[in-house]
Amino acid sequence: MVGWPVRHSRSPLIHGYWIEQYKLDAIYRREEIAPEAFADFISRLSSRGYVGANITIPHKEAALAMSEPDDRARAVGASNTLWYDSGRLCSTNTDVEGFTANLDASVLGWEQRAGEAVVLGAGGSARAIIYGLIEREIATIHVVNRTPERAEALRARFGAAVQPANWSALPHLLGRAGLVVNTTSLGMTGQPPLAIDLAPLSGHAVVADLVYAPLETSLLAAARARGLATADGLGMLLYQAVRGFQLWFGVRPEVTPQLRALVETDLAK
Ligand code: NAP
Repeated sequence: MVGWPVRHSRSPLIHGYWIEQYKLDAIYRREEIAPEAFADFISRLSSRGYVGANITIPHKEAALAMSEPDDRARAVGASNTLWYDSGRLCSTNTDVEGFTANLDASVLGWEQRAGEAVVLGAGGSARAIIYGLIEREIATIHVVNRTPERAEALRARFGAAVQPANWSALPHLLGRAGLVVNTTSLGMTGQPPLAIDLAPLSGHAVVADLVYAPLETSLLAAARARGLATADGLGMLLYQAVRGFQLWFGVRPEVTPQLRALVETDLAK
C-alpha cells in the first residue's frame, strides 16, 4: 500500500491506472495529513501496511529530514518519494527526472539545443529543475525571479552555473537562450498570466512549462504559434510518477498516450 498525503493531486489516478494495467495486488491510497501529524504518520508508515509514499507540499522538507535521502533529494532540499530498503526509510526527489525524462520524450536533442537556459522562478520546483539541468551538463542557467534573494540563494546552493537575473533582463537573456522553463505559478488557472514576449528566442529554442492547469498555457501556446519545440507540465507530472511506482511495486511502468488521455480528461472536469 502506498499513501499520498494531500488532497489535490492526480497521483492516485496515475498509480491506480498502472496497478490495473500491470494487474498488481496493490492499493494506492490518498491520505490527507496535517503538518503536526506528519512525523507520527511517517514513523508508523510501515506498521500501517504501507511500502512507501508520495509526498506533496507542505511535507516535502519534513520527509527529507525523516528519511535517508539520495543525492538528488539532498541537493534539491526536498523529498517527494519514500520507500523502504532493507527496513530503512529512503527518499528521493523524482521531479528532477520527471522534468528531464519529459524533455527527452518531447524534444529530440534538447540538450544540444539548450546552450544557455533561462529558468523563470526560484521556488521549490525551480530547485529540482536546476539540479536536473546541471545533471545534464547545462553550464549556464539564468534564474529570473521576482524576489532576487531567492535566485541568489539558488546560486549559493548550486554554484556558478546559476546566474541570478531580474525580469528586466529577460528580453536580452531570451536572445541568448536555447531553453526556457517556467517554474513560476504564473499562467496557472486562478493565478496572474505569465506575460513575456518570446520574439527574441531563436527558432531552435525549446520552451517548457511546469504548469499543467490549464494544459496548454499561454506560454506554450505562444511558443507553438512560433513553431518552437515544447514540453508541457502534464508530461513532467506523468514521468515523475514512474520511479516511485517501480520502487514500491517492482515494475517500471510506461507513460503511454492512453494514460495521458485519462489524466487530460480528469483535468478537463
Ligand atoms: P513555489 O515554491 O511557491 O514558487 C513559486 C514561484 O512563482 C516563485 O519563484 C515566485 O516568485 C513565483 N511567483 C508567484 N507569483 C508570482 C507573481 N505574481 N509574479 C512573479 N513571480 C511569481 O511553487 P512551486 O512548488 O515551485 O510550483 C510552481 C509551479 O510549478 C506550480 O504551478 C506547480 O503546480 C508547478 N509544478 C508542476 C510540477 C509538474 O509535475 N508538472 C511539479 C512541481 C510544480 P517569488 O520567489 O518572488 O515569490
